[in-house]
Amino acid sequence: MKQKKFVLTENEMPTQWYNIVADMKNKPLPPLNPATKEPLNPADLEPIFAKGLIQQEISQEKWIEIPEEVQDLYKIYRPTPLVRAYGLEKALDTPAKIYFKNESVSPVGSHKLNSAIPQAYYNKMEGIKRITTETGAGQWGTALSFACKLFGIDLSIFMVKVSYEQKPYRKSMMNTWGAQVVASPSTLTESGRKILAENPNSSGSLGIAISEAVEMAAKDPDTRYALGSVLNHVILHQTIIGLEAEKQMEMAGDFPDVVIGCFGGGSNFSGIAFPFLRHTLEEGKKLKVIAAEPSSCPKLTRGVFQYDFGDTVGLTPLLPMYTLGHNFQPADIHAGGLRYHGAGSIVSQLVKDHFVVAEDVPQLETFEAGTLFARTEGIIPAPESTHAIAVAIREALRAKEEGVEKTILFNLSGHGLIDMASYDQYFAGKLQNYSVSAETIADNVSKLEHLAEKF
Ligand SMILES: *Cc1c(COP(=O)(O)O)cnc(C)c1O
Repeated sequence: MKQKKFVLTENEMPTQWYNIVADMKNKPLPPLNPATKEPLNPADLEPIFAKGLIQQEISQEKWIEIPEEVQDLYKIYRPTPLVRAYGLEKALDTPAKIYFKNESVSPVGSHKLNSAIPQAYYNKMEGIKRITTETGAGQWGTALSFACKLFGIDLSIFMVKVSYEQKPYRKSMMNTWGAQVVASPSTLTESGRKILAENPNSSGSLGIAISEAVEMAAKDPDTRYALGSVLNHVILHQTIIGLEAEKQMEMAGDFPDVVIGCFGGGSNFSGIAFPFLRHTLEEGKKLKVIAAEPSSCPKLTRGVFQYDFGDTVGLTPLLPMYTLGHNFQPADIHAGGLRYHGAGSIVSQLVKDHFVVAEDVPQLETFEAGTLFARTEGIIPAPESTHAIAVAIREALRAKEEGVEKTILFNLSGHGLIDMASYDQYFAGKLQNYSVSAETIADNVSKLEHLAEKF
C-alpha cells in the first residue's frame, strides 16, 4: 500500500517557532514612524499592540519558545496532516510528486488560528480586555473570535463590506464565538466616515478595515489591535506549519524541490516556506519557493519595493514592502483574503534578494484548479488556497513537459465550505478574470514617497 498521510503525534509537535530574520544576510529595512520618517521606536506601538507581540515583531532570535498554554490549545487541531496527492498526480499524469499540508482541518477552517491563539494569549497576559481587528474573507475574524473566546477577551471586528455581503455565514460563525461584527467602511470611526464621504458605495478593502480597527484600539487604553497577516510576529507564529511539514517530509523520505503558498499578506506562505528556506540560507540547499497571488492584486509580480502604509487611511507605521500603493482598490474577486495592497517586510526582502519568486494567477484558472483538486482529493479548497493549487498544477505540468521528477509541496491554507456561493457562480459561468492596467499601478505607486532609498 502507498502511504498517503504523514501524521505526527502530539508529542512530536514543534515547541519553538522559527524566526527567519536571524538567518537573513540582508535584514528587512526598519519600520518608520510616519510623522518623523525615522526608524520607529518599538514603544510607539504599545498603545496598539500587546508588548509580548512587539518583542516578537523586532526579535532577531532564531528560535522562539511556544508558550505551553498555546501548545495545549494548538493540540485542538494540531499537528495537521501532510498528504500525498496521489489523486491529483494521476489526473495530471505527471511524474512529479505532489504533497500538501492540510491546514483546513482547524476548527475555523484555515491556518489563521495558528496566530490567533498566541495573539489572544499575549494580550490576555497583559490584562487587555478588548481586541479590535479587521477581516477580509472572514477567516481571520472567525479565528480570532474563537481564540478570544478561549481567553475571555471581547472582540470587535470590521469586516470588508464585499465579503460581509458575499459570505454571510462567516459573520454567523464570528457571532457564534461571541464577537461583534460590522461591515467596513462603517460610520463607527472617523476613517470609515471619511471613506464613505468620498465613495458612499465603497465595497471596502482590507486597508480600510485596518484603519477602522486601529483607530478604535488607539482610542481606548484597555483595547489593543490584532492583525492576521503581514507583520513579523504573525509570520513567526505560522512557521508551525512548515516546521511540522519538515518533519513529515522526512517521514515520507522526501525534501521538496518546490514550495508553494498562496499570498495575501504572506502569513501562510511564509509559514510553509520559511522552515524549508532555512536550509537554503544555512546550507545553500537549492529550492524554488513560489508565492501565488491573484492577477487582480499583483503586488509581488507588478508592485514596487517601497515604504508604504499597511492601511488605506495612513494610521500604521510605514513598512518596507512590495506594494501597489495603499490606495489600490482590488477587484471584488472571491479570494477575499488575497485582496491586500502590500506584502510583509520579511517576504518583500526575500523577493528582492531572489530567494522567493512570485507568480500571478487569473481567477478562472484558480477555480478550475480548485475544482480539479476537490474532485481528486475530496477537499473543497478556499478560493485563496486555489491559487497555490493552480501554481502546483503548473509546476506538475512543467515537470511532465520536461520529463523530470520533482517534489512539490504546497500549503492548503483553508477549506471552502463557507465559500460555496463562489463555486456556484463559477459553475454558472458568472466569474471573470480581472487584470490591472499598468497605468493604474503606476498612478497609485507614484504617490508613494521614495523612502526605501534612504536605508
Ligand atoms: C487569510 C487567508 C489567506 C491569505 O492570507 P496570508 O496571510 O497571505 O496567508 C490565504 N488562505 C486562507 C484560507 C486565508 O484565510
